[in-house]
Amino acid sequence: MNRRKPPAGAVTKAPDGLPYPLIENWEWQDYAACKDVNPELFFAAESERGLRKHARELLAKSLCGTCPVQRECRRHAELVGEMYGVWGGTTEEEREPALHARSR
Ligand code: SF4
Repeated sequence: MNRRKPPAGAVTKAPDGLPYPLIENWEWQDYAACKDVNPELFFAAESERGLRKHARELLAKSLCGTCPVQRECRRHAELVGEMYGVWGGTTEEEREPALHARSR
């Protein structure tokens, strides 16, 4: 079989909306500044609101600001419609303001 490798940076989506499990689509995560950080920094607990949530998001976003793959991370979040958490220096409300307008 003659399969062509996708061009660098290409992201092809599987039917479930996620990028196909090709190394080209996921290897950016190897360089993530957060790869050894507790994911709770990036995702709100169910009861988290207000200043506590805002403070946690600021901390997460400050780490994103140092991340060499911030652009790839944000692109991923937008491509697959990540509904929760800080991705690529953006909060869920910043990516989808209408979706989260009632949950504040
Ligand atoms: S941009 Fe932020 S969330 Fe994305 S990989 Fe980097 S540190 Fe992690």
